[in-house]
Amino acid sequence: MPDIEVPVLIVGGSLVGMSAALLLGHHGVPALVVEHHRGTAIHPRAAMITQRTMEVFRTVGVEQIVLKKSDEQFVQDGAIMAVETLAGKELAWFIANLNEGVRDVSPSSRIFITQSLLEPLLKSRAEELGAQLRFATEMTSFEEDATGVTAEIRERDTGKTSTVRARYMIAADGSHSRIRERLGIRMLGRGVFSKSITIYFRGDVAPLLRGRNLSVMYVLNSTLSGFFRIEKPFASGFLAVHWLGDPKNPITDVSKDLTNERALELLYAGLGTRDIPIAIENVMQWDATADTAERFQRGRIFLAGDAAHVMPPSGGFGGNTGVQDAHNIAWKLALVLNGAAGPELLSTYDLERRPAAAFTVEQAYSRYVTRSAPYLRSDDLQAIQNDLNIELGYCYHSPAVIPEGTEDGIPHENPRESRGKPGMRAPHVSLERNGEQISTLDLFGRNFALLAGPEGDPWRESGRAAAKQLGIKLDIFEIDKDGLTDSAGVFSSAYGITRSGAVLVRPDGFVAWRSKDASGASAATLGRTLTSLLCRTAS
Ligand SMILES: Cc1cc2nc3c(=O)[nH]c(=O)nc-3n(C[C@H](O)[C@H](O)[C@H](O)COP(=O)(O)OP(=O)(O)OC[C@H]3O[C@@H](n4cnc5c(N)ncnc54)[C@H](O)[C@@H]3O)c2cc1C
Repeated sequence: MPDIEVPVLIVGGSLVGMSAALLLGHHGVPALVVEHHRGTAIHPRAAMITQRTMEVFRTVGVEQIVLKKSDEQFVQDGAIMAVETLAGKELAWFIANLNEGVRDVSPSSRIFITQSLLEPLLKSRAEELGAQLRFATEMTSFEEDATGVTAEIRERDTGKTSTVRARYMIAADGSHSRIRERLGIRMLGRGVFSKSITIYFRGDVAPLLRGRNLSVMYVLNSTLSGFFRIEKPFASGFLAVHWLGDPKNPITDVSKDLTNERALELLYAGLGTRDIPIAIENVMQWDATADTAERFQRGRIFLAGDAAHVMPPSGGFGGNTGVQDAHNIAWKLALVLNGAAGPELLSTYDLERRPAAAFTVEQAYSRYVTRSAPYLRSDDLQAIQNDLNIELGYCYHSPAVIPEGTEDGIPHENPRESRGKPGMRAPHVSLERNGEQISTLDLFGRNFALLAGPEGDPWRESGRAAAKQLGIKLDIFEIDKDGLTDSAGVFSSAYGITRSGAVLVRPDGFVAWRSKDASGASAATLGRTLTSLLCRTAS
């Protein structure tokens, strides 16, 4: 008999494991998280949070608190640019204002908040939603069989061991994932290209900012290549260092023979002045890598976050990609566990997330090479795509999406142009509900949603009948009815349908299927469509 029985065991309770627990809780699945560390992150690491991640946080009710805390920590809407030194010459401006030109595509904005501040917020909400969290506890072994996973966990302080029986397991155990290793899943890609370090420091660098609002400052000079991030009130931050010396023949093992004195020298070389008293707080070593796991699922075990993909921080995509993994698997596990979907739905996790992650990894690598390491330029370097395509434009191709016509296999698109295409994130359109402004995105998140145009009356009855027949929950909305007003009259064109058409949106806010007019508005068509999307066998 196991000591603990849970539907889902999550190994690793950092950004991605905690997000998975939170999202499963949102779908009514109480997960158990085991985390080796005694608490949430102590190192800041990730700070750039994309619009998509903020949309996910909005769905689960933490967007506002995350926004509030982020403002306490960083001046928002800063620039991403490059300097020779912080005190010296500016070399390039990649993004002048983090949210300029992207506010129209989402109700949420890109923000900066460090993992050390963000994770406690996710933790409290995950606990509110029923997750059990065990810190200072490690998973020491596991076995999978036909009906579940049995794992042994050990409390680090007491040495006490317990057996956990779970139907499924999420490996959110980071880039050196033991679970991935044990499953024999290889990482494919560029491998390690730098033994980088992050130097956390205190020191009043405000005068060097000269009133500029800077979120990320890449540094490239004759001593080093790396990047700075500075927190409010500009008296602390970090310098990440990727390589040293001659840009044509650099030393890429920055961590070798590193002393506190050497770290201080590097910091001065990045700042471009020795006039500021600096205290080094900590130095972290990590490998700059660009790899994706060859598969994200084996049986009942799913890799998520850095366990599934590792990328250089250039672009700020790593943690965000992990949150999207958690978002993708959570609703699928919930529907399979409650019997609404067939187990094959879980196979769509790998089919959807692996290509999206591999694309993001390569885009992060291209940014790393062009911004920080030109010596790595090669013929197979992907052209840099618009950040929006990476953050909001990845496209899913799997049985959980029904394409129109032949499958085009396109991995990403500009989210301004995809207009409700199946496989893409459902677009944001501002609506009014009871005098309040909301987004179409606020209509999604828990169940499948059927969203019909203003002349889509037939959809309501057929939707109800199909949901009843399948015994599933379906949220049905008709624009300009149901207290929803599209005053700008843009909904139908934003979703690529006529006024009588409708879209089926998955619980993760991705368009699963679309009927451009009322021709698909029968209970039989909707029933067949949902049966196929849920990977159920037709009765
Ligand atoms: C300098 C730097 C800056 C970055 N900036 C950004 C950014 O701006 N935006 C962004 O999105 N990303 C950024 N990243 C990347 C981001 O930090 C990672 O992608 C993210 O932390 C991955 O989270 P994770 O939960 O998958 O893995 P991790 O954070 O590595 O967590 C894995 C957890 O699993 C636990 N664990 C492992 N094995 C076991 C076990 N057997 N039992 C129990 N627990 C276990 C570990 O203790 C650990 O806490 C940055 C990274 C660095 C280094």
